[in-house]
Amino acid sequence: MHYTGTIWRPPYEASSLIIEATAGCTHHRCKFCTLYDDLPFKFRPSPLEDIEADLLEAQTWYHDPLRKAEERLFELDKADVSRVFLAGANPFGLKTHHLLKIAALVRTYFPQCQSIGCFARVTDITTKADEELADLARAGFNGLTIGIETGDDEALAFMDKGYAAKDIVEQCARLSAANISYAFFYLVGISGSERGIKGARATAEICNRTHPWLIGANMLTVYKSSQLYTEIQAGSWCEAREVEKYEEVKELVSHLGIPVEFAMLGASNPVMLHGHLPEQREQLLATLDAVITDIGEERLRHYRTNLKHL
Ligand code: SF4
Repeated sequence: MHYTGTIWRPPYEASSLIIEATAGCTHHRCKFCTLYDDLPFKFRPSPLEDIEADLLEAQTWYHDPLRKAEERLFELDKADVSRVFLAGANPFGLKTHHLLKIAALVRTYFPQCQSIGCFARVTDITTKADEELADLARAGFNGLTIGIETGDDEALAFMDKGYAAKDIVEQCARLSAANISYAFFYLVGISGSERGIKGARATAEICNRTHPWLIGANMLTVYKSSQLYTEIQAGSWCEAREVEKYEEVKELVSHLGIPVEFAMLGASNPVMLHGHLPEQREQLLATLDAVITDIGEERLRHYRTNLKHL
């Protein structure tokens, strides 16, 4: 398989067939981000020949009769691929005609495949016309994961995310109109010390005007190679305490008024959490309270400073 560097995927894409469509990120400017530091270039779309070769290789694996027998023996359900996840920071930033060619290849090798997902930046949607989004939906694109990070405009601008909170609402409305569903990633701590509550309220406000099926919260972990670390050293930004980050999550969970899955499942979270809102709001808040009182700042910070890799 043509995999380049570390391959990142959301936890809920664990059973999807992962095909690399791009390597690196078209934006590559967010101050906290170190995800693609291991690549010797900023961004590279995968050649269609590489994608086709990977689909062919995967098809061999899935359609191997001996493998099938092994699956029956162990009662594994890998008879076919129902979902493909395109790897890369933001494959949705590829031109529509290129994405449609990838979808056609997926259909050729895995006719049973029901949907194709990938990470998308808000600005990747902006550059596509409504008709293009509709074409992509018809081709199977659905369940995008968008790292909105926050609805706090000040934090978005400081971190150089390249869009404002209102863009999230506008572009997600266009996705919904095209019948493309999406999940959000929220970055806990992005608003900085003593601004988390404000950031959480602004984010809840944005989320309440959109329709994500899931909000996945990840906690800010500052690595020395990031631009944010330099800002902290220069005294121009101050990181929130760990307990403060959990107070921020509580504020978000309390203010979300839409039906949505809420999850904290990535490695940046010292405690894994998952529940459906609004039904499980009280259980989620009770667990968050328990993390604050029973684990406390020192042990949470110990986890953060010893987290070598996200
Ligand atoms: S858009 Fe995502 S992958 Fe790209 S630099 Fe920002 S956080 Fe990193």
